[in-house]
Amino acid sequence: MPAPVHELRFGTRFQRSLPVDPDMRLWPREVRGAAWSRAHPTPVRSPRLVSWADEVGALLGVERPTETGPAVDVLAGNRVPEGSEPFAACYGGHQFGQWAGQLGDGRAIALGDVTGPGGTFEVQLKGAGPTPYSRRADGRAVLRSSIREFICSEAMHHLHVPTTRALALVTTGEPVVRDMFYDGNPTEEPGAIVTRVAPSFVRFGNFELPASRSDRDLLQALAEHVIGEHYPEVGRADAEGVLRFFTLLTERTAKLMARWMALGFVHGVMNTDNLSILGITIDYGPYGWLDVFDPDFTPNTTDYREGRYRWRQQAAIGHWNLARLARALVPLVGDAERLDAVVAGYPEAFSAAWREELSAKIGFTVQAGDDPLVMELFGALQASETDWTIFFRSLADVPRTGDPLLALAEAFYAPPDAALRQRWGAWVASWRVRTAGEDPAERRARMNAANPIFIPRNWVVQECIEATEAGDVGAVDRLLEVLRRPYEPQPGSARLAGRRPDWARNKPGCSALSCSS
Ligand code: AMP
Ligand code: MG
Repeated sequence: MPAPVHELRFGTRFQRSLPVDPDMRLWPREVRGAAWSRAHPTPVRSPRLVSWADEVGALLGVERPTETGPAVDVLAGNRVPEGSEPFAACYGGHQFGQWAGQLGDGRAIALGDVTGPGGTFEVQLKGAGPTPYSRRADGRAVLRSSIREFICSEAMHHLHVPTTRALALVTTGEPVVRDMFYDGNPTEEPGAIVTRVAPSFVRFGNFELPASRSDRDLLQALAEHVIGEHYPEVGRADAEGVLRFFTLLTERTAKLMARWMALGFVHGVMNTDNLSILGITIDYGPYGWLDVFDPDFTPNTTDYREGRYRWRQQAAIGHWNLARLARALVPLVGDAERLDAVVAGYPEAFSAAWREELSAKIGFTVQAGDDPLVMELFGALQASETDWTIFFRSLADVPRTGDPLLALAEAFYAPPDAALRQRWGAWVASWRVRTAGEDPAERRARMNAANPIFIPRNWVVQECIEATEAGDVGAVDRLLEVLRRPYEPQPGSARLAGRRPDWARNKPGCSALSCSS
């Protein structure tokens, strides 16, 4: 029987296995020798449930709450269930290539772990108020960024991307002040809290911080926790075990980057404090999706100049981040060269994963000899202002003979001119040769299973945010319902699978996102 949220029994496996900060205050400070600090959520005025993910509820064995009441009070931090020992984790990170020192959970407060039918999961309230790691910020989150995190984490799961999950979205009834454009014009926005769920929220940065302080004991305790709970297959957390864990994580990260890129997802802030020790997607901030294919697209306004986290760079940044983690693990492995050798294997792991993703997308197994075909595909995509998602979904419908552009027409933002028509004609001719040996219906089904119709497009989520802010409380639920079946045609929602409308071209929230959340 599913339990109400307020009757869940929270475990303390993270807290019990790792040293705690003895200071009980929420005051911002440097925390040494500890992996976590006690942090009670700060109550909010009038919490209301906006959305709930039933599948995540089923994993935990918890029932959907009513709009207000004791369950929603827990999700808002107004009530802490018995047995829960709320905490904020201590971690550091490299931000935009620079070591940033201590960061930590500045606004995420974990209630502990819950064991349900789907396994054991940490449960976290994002936006639940200040912690010792809030620095000068308020520990809160605005509704717009909370909707973005809630919708995207669930959409990613249904797109078969390893990710943290989202159980619930509540509004707090309190305003939050944000300077969205960093232009000295702060405004009040509605506040919200997302309940996030994952086997672990440990990041690369949890290891980097104690390593930067030469705290070998804490590093060892973290390795024992992570390996013991999440990588039991590698055995003990000795030098060999840590090396095996790092090898598995390297493979998982390579696959994750290939998966993101195949779907046209751009994370936007791949700092090492935002990379998961499980190789899952974590921390949905100024992420975005390719509408028009542009390999240099970055949604994050803070990253415009450098483009560090742009679409195509994600593969290399995964590598760079793993190299930072490798350095942090040296004291546990004792041999930097062996760690470096694992890092050196990343490019090949990524290439293999990318080839596999690409093969699924274009409908045949890409081999070395196919390089010119693939290069020309990317060239033509870029030359013709093409929608990444619509193109690949439509490619499956290109018939064996006849004008290929009829099937692809929806993918183009402007009708291709004569030169481009010829270019696409030539490319499709080669593609037809390459797919000739296969049963068309079987190939089409395979391609459709790899190429979604529905992704949480930036403009679609922005519409949902505006509707919710205007009082349409069902908007998030309705969008999530569509995104639960991203590979299936849903004629009533076809509009949501369309190209980015003109109004969204340069609209904040649609193509340009700030970190202000
Ligand atoms: P992010 O880039 O969003 O992953 O955040 C980087 C760091 O800033 C993390 O330590 C966050 O916990 C912290 N942070 C971001 N926003 C807030 C906020 N509103 N209040 C407190 N800490 C925050
Ligand atoms: Mg973060």
